[in-house]
Parts: sequence; structure tokens; C-alpha cells
Amino acid sequence: MSTTTQRVIDDRRYADLRDRRLAAALAAEDAAETDGLDPLERMTCGLHRKWIHRCVHSPMHVIPVTGHRWCRDCSTAADVMIDELTGEIRVTCPGCRRTPNPRATKQIVRTCRASLSAASA
Ligand SMILES: [Zn+2]
Ligand SMILES: [Zn+2]
Repeated sequence: MSTTTQRVIDDRRYADLRDRRLAAALAAEDAAETDGLDPLERMTCGLHRKWIHRCVHSPMHVIPVTGHRWCRDCSTAADVMIDELTGEIRVTCPGCRRTPNPRATKQIVRTCRASLSAASA
């Protein structure tokens, strides 16, 4: 991200959110996404208006094309296990019990970790 970009962060869209830290993070990442941030690198979810670790369980976060939460061998959506206390995050296919697409899974783990720590900071 460029540090010279002067963009006004507009969080009015999230005015009704009680968690103002979440609202600020959502607005900041919306702006960053407009500037080229990979939507899959976000730690907030603009669709569900939540920290990503709170909604990554949703079927909307299964992306067969990229292998995010998707086991190609079984053509099945993988489960996400997030332990908010220990910070442990696991993606497991309910069919073969393996972790699907290592690259996509690494990204899920990374963004969930970031959102976990941002939410509890
Ligand atoms: Zn979501
Ligand atoms: Zn599988």
C-alpha cells in the first residue's frame, strides 16, 4: 500500500455497527481494496460486515475456483476450525480429513490470525 495516498476513509456505510474498531477496519480495507488490496487478503468481510474469523465459516467463503475452503479431491467444502483462545486455525475437508489447497489455506490462516489479533487488540 502506498503511504502517500491521501484517501478519505468513509465509514458512514458502517455507521450502525456497534463495534467501532471493526467499522474503521472495514472502511479502511474497503478503501485499500479500491487501491488494489487483494480482497482475499482482507481481515474484515465487507459482505458480512464482520471480522473474517467470525464469518469465514459461511458458505459464501467457499471459493472452488481458487481452492479456498474447497477440497478438489472430494468436491466438498472444507470446514474451518478457529479457536479464539489459542489462536489455532485449521481447515479440514470433512470427506478426506485433509487440509485442502495449501496456498489458499495459508491465506485463510494468515487473514484469520490478523483479524483475531485486530479484534482483540
Ligand atoms: Zn464474510
Ligand atoms: Zn477431501
